[in-house]
Amino acid sequence: MKIIAIGRNYAEHAKELNNPVPTVPVIFMKPDTALLKDNKPFYLPEFSQDVHHEIELVLKISKEGKHIDEKFAAAYYDEVALGIDFTARDIQSKHKEKGLPWELAKAFDGSAPVSNFVPKSKFQDLYNLNFRLNVNGEARQIGNTKDLLFSFERIIAFVSQYITLKKGDLIYTGTPEGVAKVNIGDHLEGFLEDEQLLDFYVK
Ligand code: MG
Repeated sequence: MKIIAIGRNYAEHAKELNNPVPTVPVIFMKPDTALLKDNKPFYLPEFSQDVHHEIELVLKISKEGKHIDEKFAAAYYDEVALGIDFTARDIQSKHKEKGLPWELAKAFDGSAPVSNFVPKSKFQDLYNLNFRLNVNGEARQIGNTKDLLFSFERIIAFVSQYITLKKGDLIYTGTPEGVAKVNIGDHLEGFLEDEQLLDFYVK
């Protein structure tokens, strides 16, 4: 399986990092070794002094597809989850300055925690989903999928023009504003609507 992630998919987050609001999706990938499941602890890597949390809605691809039409893209995912796109912001900033790829900042081991998946049929409107990250009991990032710049269907259609999507692939769909550094001992909890899906510690 592979992990595809969308950058700058919420305007307020693009602005907080002084990035332009994109006109086409910004994508990058993480390897399967980035996955962190079952609320296992996240170990801060030694190579960064500034690892940020980014809470994101995650889609699970349910069947193989290439050149998927946006009209039919909803049939290619049937479950959603919450994930964190951990980002070594210090490394990313250096690489952005030089125009270099982001992998060292984004693709490291454990950089993609993901919760259990929930059938999307559970929700009346996928484009009015509240989600939230609490750090040490305080709300740090509050988002709603109505603020997505590129819809889930648009993302699937766009990515599948370039990369075949396979059953089990994950798409991290971007983070709302409020990203910040995590520290050893932090307690991270992710909520989708009122359900707690993420609950783990930084070590
Ligand atoms: Mg992200």
